[in-house]
Amino acid sequence: MSIAKDASTRLKRIDPDVLSVAFRDPMLCARSGTCVGVCPENALSLGPDYYPVIDEDRCTECGLCRKVCPGEDVSFQRLNQLSFDDDKLDDGFDGRVNEVHVGYAVNESMRAGGAGGGVITGLLNDLLRHGDVDGCIVTRMRADKPWLGESFIARTEADLLASQGSRYTIIPFNAILKEVLNSDETYAVAALPCHVHGLRFAFDAIPELKEKIPYVVGLFCGGALETYVVPELLETKGIKPEEISDFQFRGGDWPGKMRAIMQDGEIRDLHYSNYKDGAYNYFIGLYMPDRCQTCIDGSGLFSDIAVSDAWTRDAEGKYKFPYHSRILVRNARGKALLERAVQRGTLIATNLGDDKSYLTHRQQTKRKGMNAPLRLARRARGGRAVPHYHVEVPESTLHERLTERGVSSLLAIGRHRMLRYPLIFFLTSKAAIPLIKLRLWLKKRKYQKRS
Ligand SMILES: Cc1cc2nc3c(=O)[nH]c(=O)nc-3n(C[C@H](O)[C@H](O)[C@H](O)COP(=O)(O)OP(=O)(O)OC[C@H]3O[C@@H](n4cnc5c(N)ncnc54)[C@H](O)[C@@H]3O)c2cc1C
Ligand code: SF4
Ligand code: SF4
Repeated sequence: MSIAKDASTRLKRIDPDVLSVAFRDPMLCARSGTCVGVCPENALSLGPDYYPVIDEDRCTECGLCRKVCPGEDVSFQRLNQLSFDDDKLDDGFDGRVNEVHVGYAVNESMRAGGAGGGVITGLLNDLLRHGDVDGCIVTRMRADKPWLGESFIARTEADLLASQGSRYTIIPFNAILKEVLNSDETYAVAALPCHVHGLRFAFDAIPELKEKIPYVVGLFCGGALETYVVPELLETKGIKPEEISDFQFRGGDWPGKMRAIMQDGEIRDLHYSNYKDGAYNYFIGLYMPDRCQTCIDGSGLFSDIAVSDAWTRDAEGKYKFPYHSRILVRNARGKALLERAVQRGTLIATNLGDDKSYLTHRQQTKRKGMNAPLRLARRARGGRAVPHYHVEVPESTLHERLTERGVSSLLAIGRHRMLRYPLIFFLTSKAAIPLIKLRLWLKKRKYQKRS
């Protein structure tokens, strides 16, 4: 049982209707930390699994945490208005796209340290170096509990280099708004789609925040992983969480591997495939939180500029853009951000124009663009609480509906430790190598057939 479930059943005085959704239906809580970040009374804090916890004696029932909550009412029309100042909702999975580029950071360490080509860090560092912002809001693994992530304010290039890479776990990113509200500085953020939803709602409710955070870089998101993923993975290798000093979801050579950095500095690989061709696929199937399963924003729809991996493969199934990121420019602010970073020599970016090779996200488009909306509609029909995006469910074929059912059944297995633990134990062991090889061979055949 989660802390939030405890909290909602234990509310003594406060009407849950004035609070963020965690206190009515924790399954809808995205754990973005937005409510914790904006509460003017410091009545909210983060529980151990990152659901909010309330101190009822401090709460004045002002309703602000409900207003900014990106868990339940996530109207895309409203977000569109707040982000682009118009209500024309763009079709398709990628949303509003003015330009598409692939690129990388000119700084070699930044490029090598990135999840893709270090573009996000390059964009942020460019702003910081030229004094356009005082700090950048980014993430890292916690010093006290390196198996959990947190957001922090980076003020130097070294801070930014330490923030690089993807942390595929739930991070209550917007809890940092507390610090932002208490300062007179300006910031750029790089954040996941649900974080951006919370930020846009918070900008609307507290206009000074919008002034303080003029740049919003979005990450693509196929789904985060539960907060217990790292301890469980370590357990399969006989490592105690306290024995590590850091954890990397994509450490080492691109596209990276899940690795534990031990207290004595030793680096331990935790599985035998690389991140993309093995690990991520089975972790996302077993550790994706319920709220992520009903999330339909996979591409940072409401950011100024969105950055993703560039997974395009050639006819041999080989990656065309290793150490690159894909960049979607969504508005004038995003365009200016990219152009300045290129002109100042921080980034190299190639405009792909109409080149279809940028369409790299077939799997993700399926997961978020088709499976999640179908799942939402099915759950709503069954009377279950679901987030409301106020968008149409796309047309689907029988095959797509059956696929969604199959994927949902797999995800259900992940809810039970007794079922998921032996699977993860096996899939990260040597015994799974033939499976990984088979998967790669099937993929290669698929790409050869396609070309
Ligand atoms: C949970 C998650 C799911 C993702 N899913 C996809 C996907 O399905 N398809 C895809 O193309 N790309 C996905 N990405 C984005 C991708 O992994 C890279 O982040 C992106 O390509 C940028 O790489 P880069 O080298 O330009 O950034 P880098 O220079 O490596 O910078 C990475 C930035 O991401 C931030 N960050 C890392 N983890 C988190 C987090 N949990 N919450 C908020 N910010 C974070 C860091 O603070 C840093 O600022 C996902 C990222 C995350 C964190
Ligand atoms: S004081 Fe306002 S923002 Fe804080 S918990 Fe209470 S209702 Fe929410
Ligand atoms: S899938 Fe959606 S709710 Fe989950 S972390 Fe990604 S953006 Fe947030």
